[in-house]
Amino acid sequence: MKCPACSASVPDGSAECSSCGVIFEKYELRKKRERAEAEAALAALAEPSRPIVNPRIGQLAAAALFFSWAGVMAHYVFLEWQKREDRRASLAAAAPSPIAPAMRAVAPPRRASAAVSASTSTVVLSSAAAVR
Ligand SMILES: [Zn+2]
Repeated sequence: MKCPACSASVPDGSAECSSCGVIFEKYELRKKRERAEAEAALAALAEPSRPIVNPRIGQLAAAALFFSWAGVMAHYVFLEWQKREDRRASLAAAAPSPIAPAMRAVAPPRRASAAVSASTSTVVLSSAAAVR
């Protein structure tokens, strides 16, 4: 017969290889165990993988997250809207005419420019006086 490990020819019925020293019985047992392990690993790979977490839980978590985000957003939108309403109410209280705030925003304050020109002319006059 042939040694299964080193392929040396050994006398039939011997328990041990005279060339490499392997014990045939142990060698066959090891081979059988290795084959069984490989088959089990292959079977585990072939098995369709099941999701670890229930997808229903993920959907519920996503929905909860979305609705809490939407709630926070709605809250801030409502706060901004309230602020704007307050500002509009205070403007309406200050100027009963609805056109007045817009006109005030467009027209430059005349008194300020007059004050600037007055102060510059004062400076010019005072510097002229200092030269003399
Ligand atoms: Zn051998």
